[in-house]
Amino acid sequence: MTERTRTATMDKIAALSKRRGFVFPGSEIYGGLANTWDYGPLGVELKRNVKDLWWRTFVHRRRDIVGIDAGILMHPRVWEASGHVESFNDPLVDCKTCKSRFRADHLIEERLGLHVEGKSPAEMTEIIQSAGLRCPVCGNATLTEARQFNMMFRTTIGPVEETGVSVYLRPETAQAMFVQYKNIVATGRVKVPFGIAQIGKAFRNEITPGNFIFRLLEFEQMEIEYFVRPEASADAFDAWLSDMRGWVRLIGLDEAHVRVREHEADELSHYSSRTVDFEYLFPGPMGWRELYGLANRSDFDLRQHQEYSGDDLTYFDQAENRRYLPYVIEPTFGVDRTCLVLMLDAYDEEATVDINGKPETRVVLRFEPRIAPCKAAVLPLMKKPELSAVARGLFEELDASVDAYVDYDETGNIGKRYRRQDEIGTPFCFTIDYDTLEDRTVTVRMRDDMSQERLPLADVPAWLAERIV
Ligand code: ATP
Repeated sequence: MTERTRTATMDKIAALSKRRGFVFPGSEIYGGLANTWDYGPLGVELKRNVKDLWWRTFVHRRRDIVGIDAGILMHPRVWEASGHVESFNDPLVDCKTCKSRFRADHLIEERLGLHVEGKSPAEMTEIIQSAGLRCPVCGNATLTEARQFNMMFRTTIGPVEETGVSVYLRPETAQAMFVQYKNIVATGRVKVPFGIAQIGKAFRNEITPGNFIFRLLEFEQMEIEYFVRPEASADAFDAWLSDMRGWVRLIGLDEAHVRVREHEADELSHYSSRTVDFEYLFPGPMGWRELYGLANRSDFDLRQHQEYSGDDLTYFDQAENRRYLPYVIEPTFGVDRTCLVLMLDAYDEEATVDINGKPETRVVLRFEPRIAPCKAAVLPLMKKPELSAVARGLFEELDASVDAYVDYDETGNIGKRYRRQDEIGTPFCFTIDYDTLEDRTVTVRMRDDMSQERLPLADVPAWLAERIV
């Protein structure tokens, strides 16, 4: 990709998303519900492309990973064993003057540039007080001490709240892979090293959601728990680091916008010997923020579930003739954050001229074709029956041969239609004109440089299929 000035901002992406149908504010006709968002016709295609590509890459194309699709509700003991009931907390501070609420760790990170993940509320309070941090909203030095707030959403199974069973909406997809690990080993399809993958919703009662779809209350994760011999965990971690870098390249993110940050020793969870975050450089004040994570979780989860369930979760390794609890390497990817950074990275404003020679700004989403929500558009040059007939024929042929969204548009002038396709990131437009009726060729117009070439009509399906995989 050629070097270009970055013009994307969160506001521009949010506005474009709404205008073109990527992401809408949730429940808008009822005045909205803060921090909920709905994916529109193009957003849902983008999201499906991300999830399908991920599944193809990490499940279908690998012999060592199998998938599951577990329920959102699980036995409440799962969340005791995993540590979520006791410690899936965010440290929060309130402002006594203006009643605003903040995450203590975020406040410290933003104001002092210190990473304090893993520190206790008392330690964070100490940092806030000794640095004299003030409320970012009203400016008063009236912040409370930091205290813990459990982020799991709770609900009740049963008709009466008092006698019902309290359950949680899962805050991550990972635990189901540990809970079903024994059943999967019993199916006989896998041998250590192997992975279990899942894509699904997770729910977190975040104190400070926001930044469009960066931090949501309800979001999707794509996670793998990769089970290995304890001695092999460091090498498996390195291999996953490289596979995750490969994914970042595959979806076409600018490498200058992604970095890998190693967690400091005091930032690591007590069970993890190594964790890295893939961080993305968001525009504006957000800066570098977590996009994905990779952790060596040791045998912590299986050991906990073994203890809490009373079931034997050890693995018998036939090749080594010994029994052990496998170690687990966990690559985790947020679907919504992926969609967000894909839009931010793809967004470009280009100075150009319109058909009358007047200067104008062309907005283009330069998605990789394999990720683009709309792969191609078929456009008759004008709305004339003889052109539409051929164009419809081509559209139907593409509809049948390409397993993806293809657009058809015959209203308005061709320049405007090209601009609309540019703005939603459609990589190729096929234009049917009067020459097509004579010589059975069409114009292919490329989104990225607006260049055009002629192609035999009959070759279009194969030409397109080759370019969108
Ligand atoms: P953060 O530090 O941003 O809260 P985290 O470390 O809690 O994230 P994990 O528990 O590791 O995140 O979750 C794995 C992935 O799920 C993250 O890398 C991110 O892509 C995604 N994710 C986590 N929380 C949210 C959220 N509230 N909204 C959208 N995506 C999220």
